[in-house]
Amino acid sequence: MNKDDLSKIFQILKKATPEPVTELIYKTNFQLLIAVILSAQATDKSVNAATKPLFKIAPDAKSIYNLGEKKLKEHIKTIGLYNAKAKNVIKTCKILLDEYNNKIPQDRDTLQSLPGVGRKTANVVLNNAFGQPTIGVDTHVFRVSNRLGIATGKNVLQVEKKLEKNIPDKFKMHAHHWLIILGRYTCIARSPRCFDCKVVEYCKYKKKEMSND
Ligand code: SF4
Repeated sequence: MNKDDLSKIFQILKKATPEPVTELIYKTNFQLLIAVILSAQATDKSVNAATKPLFKIAPDAKSIYNLGEKKLKEHIKTIGLYNAKAKNVIKTCKILLDEYNNKIPQDRDTLQSLPGVGRKTANVVLNNAFGQPTIGVDTHVFRVSNRLGIATGKNVLQVEKKLEKNIPDKFKMHAHHWLIILGRYTCIARSPRCFDCKVVEYCKYKKKEMSND
């Protein structure tokens, strides 16, 4: 895709949502980290439903660690993969307390060394908590980037690298939010709402669905 078209896409997405934010609900960087760990292969809605009461009684690393794995599981059992996630969250809390003075690391490698934190989670935390122009590629961003033709690739890392290279700096900060919004509400996995899509004229997807029937 040429640079002008790519810029046009992000101008349109920006105009529709000038200041996009994550739909995960959190009050601190720690809570953001935990919410993003819990959101792997789960919806933000399901995470918010579980973390709302959880963060009320256990808002920080110490209180979640003190809660223990068994009780934590009770709180997050409505979220997919909750057994593994509970284990990872408890281990991450312990490491934050023991090794990082209860602070969230601000670099990708250290973040990724925490249990349950993959590259996407690290990117989302760096972006939302520390204002770094990282692009977390989740299932929505991966699908939309490939369909639009702004960054094609067989895996998330390929797509992330291409997005980083192709997206103009001025749009990088919010790029992944805009692509998530597009993927969540319009460029839906099973049947994209191309008839209702603001960037349809620039999209390279060959099987556009232009009928609302
Ligand atoms: S035109 Fe269709 S396929 Fe392309 S981004 Fe929009 S919804 Fe997705």
